[in-house]
Amino acid sequence: MPALRAVALLAAAAWALAAQVPTPRAHFGHEMGADRAVLGWDRVVSYFRALEKASDRIRVSELGKSTEARPFIAAVIAAPATLRNLDHYIDIQRRLADPRITTESDAARLVREGKAVVMITCSIHSTELASTQTAVEFAYRLLAEDTPRRRAILDNTVFILVPSLNPDGLDKVTAWYRKTLGTPFEGTSPPELYHKYVGHDNNRDWYIHSQVETQLTIARLHNVWHPHIVYDVHQQGTTASRIFIPPWLDPIEPNVDAILMQETNVIGTSMAMDLTAAGKTGVAIHGSYDFWSPSRHYQAFHGGMRILTESASARLASPMTVAREQLDRHALGYDAQERSWNHLEPWPGGTWRLRDIVDYQLIAYESCLYHAALHREELLQNFYRIGQRQVARRSPAAFVIPAAQRDPGATRKLLQTLASGMVEIYRAPDGAYVIPMAQPYSGYAKALLERQRYPDLRMYPGGPPQRPYDVTAHTLPLLFGVNVEGVEQPVAGRLERVSVEGQGPGPSLAGADTDAWFNVNRIWAAGGAVWRDMQTGDFSAAPREGWKKLARPRVGLYRGYQPCMDEGWTRWLLDRFGFAYRSVANPEVQAGRLRDRYDVLVFPDQSASAMENGYRKGAMPDGYTGGLGPAGAAALKEFAGAGGTLVFLNRASEYAVRQLGVAARNVVDGVGDREFYSPGSLLNARLENRHPLALGLPGEIAVWSEHSPAWETGGTVVARYPESGVLASGWLLGEKYIAGRAALADERIGSGHVVLFGLSPQYRAQSYQAFKLFFNALLYR
Ligand SMILES: [Zn+2]
Repeated sequence: MPALRAVALLAAAAWALAAQVPTPRAHFGHEMGADRAVLGWDRVVSYFRALEKASDRIRVSELGKSTEARPFIAAVIAAPATLRNLDHYIDIQRRLADPRITTESDAARLVREGKAVVMITCSIHSTELASTQTAVEFAYRLLAEDTPRRRAILDNTVFILVPSLNPDGLDKVTAWYRKTLGTPFEGTSPPELYHKYVGHDNNRDWYIHSQVETQLTIARLHNVWHPHIVYDVHQQGTTASRIFIPPWLDPIEPNVDAILMQETNVIGTSMAMDLTAAGKTGVAIHGSYDFWSPSRHYQAFHGGMRILTESASARLASPMTVAREQLDRHALGYDAQERSWNHLEPWPGGTWRLRDIVDYQLIAYESCLYHAALHREELLQNFYRIGQRQVARRSPAAFVIPAAQRDPGATRKLLQTLASGMVEIYRAPDGAYVIPMAQPYSGYAKALLERQRYPDLRMYPGGPPQRPYDVTAHTLPLLFGVNVEGVEQPVAGRLERVSVEGQGPGPSLAGADTDAWFNVNRIWAAGGAVWRDMQTGDFSAAPREGWKKLARPRVGLYRGYQPCMDEGWTRWLLDRFGFAYRSVANPEVQAGRLRDRYDVLVFPDQSASAMENGYRKGAMPDGYTGGLGPAGAAALKEFAGAGGTLVFLNRASEYAVRQLGVAARNVVDGVGDREFYSPGSLLNARLENRHPLALGLPGEIAVWSEHSPAWETGGTVVARYPESGVLASGWLLGEKYIAGRAALADERIGSGHVVLFGLSPQYRAQSYQAFKLFFNALLYR
């Protein structure tokens, strides 16, 4: 057979195969991005399964189950020959990631042979729903519509597509949208968190790895594939630019490699160029988003770029009209109405619909992947170089965690946290744990172990602070209360590698959770009794002379109608440590007689007005509006008067001052940002650790402060800021306002207590040491 004819037949055969790939329309009954069309997760999963059946260019795997037991899936898309050898390409990545085991000449060969690994992750924020629909259409096009660009992508990359990082939330938003469709509430966000525990904060979990979805993504994708690019797809407000793409704003976390940031600048700008060339307007770069907290970008400390796009939202799947004059004039770094170097063609205004978002994202996905395909060798070479630069880090030489620690459970938890991020941990002859910096992810370890010095950025010279996109501190030793020392000389003696949770060889550090509070709850759950030494805070399952017998607390956790992430984190913490509790909504509080059912009521971090008023009437369907109101406040006073304990976390404590008449004055109330600013920082505090609220803790700790109150009070002060040297890590303006003031106070109403936390003792599952303050409060009578 003449060769040309054979080629034509093969091409026809390939096309016939492609023709069987089901279209999104055939599967879902509508085009992606159609007005008012939202997706159910089961249909998304079955579509990807159908693609896998029809094409030899895609493999779909279930990585595990989501928090609420939905299949958590990822698709790998590549040329058939690549897909048949995935283990080979994983091995290339593993070897390039570690220059200690791979010579320069081996690396050169692996670079020629390897594939660019690009991961696109969708809809972690479930109201930002376009990206899952884009994922469906993009996968279809890649498999079924042959173009030179798409062929280059298939041949040169391994493309990992996660259609949703939060399948539970996708279904929650879809159900709410369908329920409210055609009502005045069409397009509103659901009145519940769109992740069971953490809502929007699911994208703040990338170093503590507390949630199942994060754990699966890290363990099954990041740590296996070491993607060169992770493109996380988001949406922003309705009046911002139509799409944002990096370069990022300052500050850049100092341990992120400069090569990686330069690559990010290149690829982000190149995506912006492709969008502009395709006729899309309102494309902004270098605005709004900084690159500080590792809670948002794991890959940046593991040799991979974080590409983010933020598309302007519609009203979920409902179109909306935005006039040009309504566009945001004061976005950080650009004016959405004006032309500037980083926003060259403003969007003229008009109707904006889900399909517009999908159209922009389709271009952005393909641009990102095509760039990776074109620059495959550079990406792999630089990935290896970044590893070399990490391994060459010499200052400090290592971090040392001495064997003698106040809290061995917290020490182990800290080591587990590092290990889940592929940090290698060794043991010295004296029993100390050692983290040498000559390892591939030393920058990650260093970022999490050192104190942050956030730069003093202002809107203009002498002006108010430039708001960080998220928070400014992430120092694990302070969060966990573990003594960790940076040393400038390599640690003497033979170091033995230890295995932590399956990471690395050597004796295993894993074991049952031995945290005392966990065990206390286990004893209670089994019907046992618990005694406590009220001097040291120690627990015992057997009666001890002079110790106090503890009753299992009946805990109520306040849950208003406005979703509150801190409420979710608090639930997570209670579940994690085995506390029994019930969620308490407004009607139950207002009905009173709370003391019959509860010993303690907890109010998570939210504004006093959100608690008092909730959604105003008409803003949400009946049954979701209103707050505690006067009846709620009266019932809470009655509860405390009858010996109950009210616990207010961070900003919620303002409610106690305003509505319950607690006599504490917030000394930073009304003080402007220019004068006092604490945007998510760790602050030093002194504890009265003989007080029952601080039992079992040291006399000095670091507490999480985020726009937190501080008090002048006649009540009992349990934690107090020092007279100077308040900042421990992060950024703080105006320490003089809070120096010497109360950060944790115990106030009385009748025979009950009102515990005011001017800090977050359960902050995002991270403030491990301060958890104890919170648990103590649950037992406080
Ligand atoms: Zn988002």
